[in-house]
Amino acid sequence: MQEQWLAGSRGCGGQGKIGTLRFYTLGIDADALETIEGAISFAEYQSGTICEDCGKKGKLRSNMPWWRTLCDPCLTKWKKENKIK
Ligand SMILES: [Zn+2]
Repeated sequence: MQEQWLAGSRGCGGQGKIGTLRFYTLGIDADALETIEGAISFAEYQSGTICEDCGKKGKLRSNMPWWRTLCDPCLTKWKKENKIK
């Protein structure tokens, strides 16, 4: 996408060039943002499915004072240790 914009700028006049350059800069930001957003959602996905204690398949438990991702045995253990019913 960015390369296409650059290629287009070569055939344009001064005005077009400025416009293309502006879009090109925006293009970098949007791509960087997309990468960051992708990394965040991947981390959220990971942290939302893997038990924090044993690394097995778990679930995000949001119905507690702290949000934790735990599998069933670790949740039971953690609740006992922290006296959460
Ligand atoms: Zn676990």
